[in-house]
Amino acid sequence: MRVNYSYIEEFFKILSGQAAIKDIQHNTAFKIISAHANKFENDFSLHKLEKVINKKSEEIFGFKDFFKNRGAILNLINLMKKKEGKWLKEVQESIRCLFPKTEFKDITIYPVIGYDIGIGINKAVCINVNTEIFLNNFKELISTTIHETAHVMYEKYHGPIRGLNEIGSFYSMKEFLDYYIHYEGTGVFAAEEFRIKNRLPNSGTPIQEDYLLSSNKDMIFKLLNEYRSLVDDLKHNKVHSIYEFLERGFGRSRLTHRLGFAIFDAINRKYGIEEIQKAIALPSEKFMKKYLSILELERA
Ligand SMILES: [Zn+2]
Repeated sequence: MRVNYSYIEEFFKILSGQAAIKDIQHNTAFKIISAHANKFENDFSLHKLEKVINKKSEEIFGFKDFFKNRGAILNLINLMKKKEGKWLKEVQESIRCLFPKTEFKDITIYPVIGYDIGIGINKAVCINVNTEIFLNNFKELISTTIHETAHVMYEKYHGPIRGLNEIGSFYSMKEFLDYYIHYEGTGVFAAEEFRIKNRLPNSGTPIQEDYLLSSNKDMIFKLLNEYRSLVDDLKHNKVHSIYEFLERGFGRSRLTHRLGFAIFDAINRKYGIEEIQKAIALPSEKFMKKYLSILELERA
């Protein structure tokens, strides 16, 4: 596992006029973000970067307050370089117990500016350093690196991440939902122990609220009901648009993250970490069939 700072360096060179905007499209991190944006129909392009750099527009995904944060970002990059060894060690320790057979050496972390807070795809983790919680607390950056590295490992087991553009053609909405409960549950479960150990909050921003979970039984049963009713409506053709599906599965209640975590947490309490390793390795459909019942039984 290593960190590659080339995207950030290139970006600052462009800002200071030492390089041309178009040069950045040859950077690996740029290609990885583009591939991700393509899968999720997000707006990311050279043209958008150009807008940020030339017109100082910050109305672009992940660039909020960038010019205000610039000094803090440079400090954070220095901190990342200084603490790199410890940072990577924390990530590997959290991941190794969940994916005992996987290697880290082909995984690269790219600090970037702009786009999503973190993505983990194609053996790469991109971390947007223009993120308020990272600028305020380095441990939040470690937590997100753990979460995204878990996604990279998940791809090693299950193949490339499923994109929005595949709903309806390759996957049904139910398959897509179960996949993301398994996928996000793995990411949240991977980082949760680190967050608890370091007393990171489970409120404040949406990414922190993904971790608002485990001990609250009422919330778990509410999520279980939301899942059941969504699956039921899908079965009876009562979900009328992809928008409605995404709102119910991926919207405010963060069903995929929270229900996914609740299932893994229940497996851990009942059977321990070796069962977690097996559960991650199962195809998502089998995972849901086998383990959702633990939560159902807890409700009974
Ligand atoms: Zn995630």
